[in-house]
Amino acid sequence: MSNRPIYLDCHATTPVDERVLAAMLPYFTEKFGNPASISHIYGWETEASVRQAREILATAINATPEEIVFTSGATEANNLAIKGVAEAYFPKGQHIITIATEHHAVLDPCNYLKTLGFDITILPVKADGLIDLTELEKALRDDTILVSVMAANNEIGVLQPLAEIGGMCRDRHIIFHTDAAQAIGKIPLDVEAMNIDLMSLTAHKVYGPKGIGALYVRRRNPRVQLAPQQHGGGHERGMRSGTLYTPQIVGFAKAVEIALSEQTTENQRLTQLRERLWSQLSQLEGIHLNGHPSQRLAGNLNISIEGVDGAALGLGLQPVVAVSSGSACSSTKTAPSHVLSALGSPEKLAYASIRFGIGRFNTAEEIDLVAKHAIATIQSLRKQASLV
Ligand SMILES: *Cc1c(COP(=O)(O)O)cnc(C)c1O
Repeated sequence: MSNRPIYLDCHATTPVDERVLAAMLPYFTEKFGNPASISHIYGWETEASVRQAREILATAINATPEEIVFTSGATEANNLAIKGVAEAYFPKGQHIITIATEHHAVLDPCNYLKTLGFDITILPVKADGLIDLTELEKALRDDTILVSVMAANNEIGVLQPLAEIGGMCRDRHIIFHTDAAQAIGKIPLDVEAMNIDLMSLTAHKVYGPKGIGALYVRRRNPRVQLAPQQHGGGHERGMRSGTLYTPQIVGFAKAVEIALSEQTTENQRLTQLRERLWSQLSQLEGIHLNGHPSQRLAGNLNISIEGVDGAALGLGLQPVVAVSSGSACSSTKTAPSHVLSALGSPEKLAYASIRFGIGRFNTAEEIDLVAKHAIATIQSLRKQASLV
């Protein structure tokens, strides 16, 4: 392991925490029963474990256990939320609002609905990546059935004002969905205080296993109707059929429980590491921070770099640090991400960009090593460019 690059790509995925793995293991071989089997102990014990996991997850977002619908992850939860609402509410209206910086798992279902005749408004964001609430207010109509705005962005880490958006939607009886894949366990989430009706979650961004997530579906004030997108045995109150994946569900709940108990201290630690990285990188000329400077995930740093080729930078960084990098340079095929494009800074789009995702297992020593290597790589690429 020691000669592998330092992992700073925690927005893509995270390793499973050892404590999470330990909680999951008995459910593969020993407690393997189907939680829907009601005639014997094998079913009863896993049903009890799933019930407990559901309670932990519900408590984490101030919901009730019946409002948690397990899915394979946030992609499926987003699809169920958006297509499920569209199908259930189209007699009331066919207008849906979202924002330009959403994950493809929100944008693509919306674009699909457009082909079916739904009217989709994709709002631009401000230069700092935040939604313009005045623009949102102007876009809300009598036939708007759904507003979908993410909690935390997966590229620039920006945190959207959920409570304000939720309040505006509630006043007008419009359903509010938020993709909280990057937010769960990392920032406080409260479906009551924030007036959230649907919330997508996933385990693997918060040191849980891949292949498990959930959709929170509000049951009271108002009761949200959803057309199921997967039919079968009627699991999850008919909204998502399929045998429950007990080990993953137990791991998901354990991961969220750990993240919540460590949230405050961990956010302080990650903020320090991020500041440590930024204070070193920003000593170079021509380095720009993308996204709001403080209203963002503690572990996120996204920068644009003048005067280097994105692909060359990616190659130079690879042996030492695993990050996500991109560029709009015409010499490479890597297009600028739709998120950076939405920030509306045309000159920045010609720059290379790096997304750092700092996480639970990163140390200050690693950050210093990465900073040193990134600075050396950038300087050497700039020198080469100036010689051509
Ligand atoms: C990772 C991610 C998803 C997809 O989640 P999966 O569980 O991998 O399907 C959706 N939205 C956001 C914001 C994400 O970061």
